Amino acid sequence: MLVRLLYVSQPVGPITTTVTTSILVKSQANNKKANITGILCQGAGLWLQALEGERSQVNRLYSRIMGDRQHHNLEILSMHEIKHRQFEQWSMALVHLDKDDPMVKMAHPEFDPYSASAEDAMSLLDVLIKSSSPITMMDA
Ligand code: FAD
Repeated sequence: MLVRLLYVSQPVGPITTTVTTSILVKSQANNKKANITGILCQGAGLWLQALEGERSQVNRLYSRIMGDRQHHNLEILSMHEIKHRQFEQWSMALVHLDKDDPMVKMAHPEFDPYSASAEDAMSLLDVLIKSSSPITMMDA
């Protein structure tokens, strides 16, 4: 059964290029093996991540991510069955969230993932993917 899990968290320390690169490189290697796809959005003191794959694999990965001391205040926004992957081209891509980005301001002026619906959070990811090129380290 294919599912998508969407969660939000807060980094414990500053998000440096080293932190981001390490997460992306690990994610892209591990996720390929587990046939997981997704997107990681970072910025404005947040991480917002969508993980897609077989339910058991997504659960296993989320348990690992939950134990990562680089972030806290993890909150699942949704986890549900899907017919098709939305991020199938990326084992893990990165998009930056800049609350001052005019596209973000227009579409989501008061965006706060801790109170937003999962639908709103997915729509924000969609805006970010369309307004900037998602970054990948290893994927074509
Ligand atoms: P290694 O890096 O080789 O580490 C071995 C073991 O050491 C880990 O299993 C763990 O028990 C422990 N360990 C290592 N680093 C830490 C740490 N910082 N905190 C606590 N224990 C640690 N990983 C993915 O595979 N896919 C993803 O999509 C993904 N997304 C992430 C998104 C965010 C916002 C964050 C913060 C992390 C993400 N990670 C992701 C990383 C994940 O949390 C694990 O650190 C990673 O999966 C472990 O990779 P590994 O099993 O190859 O272990």
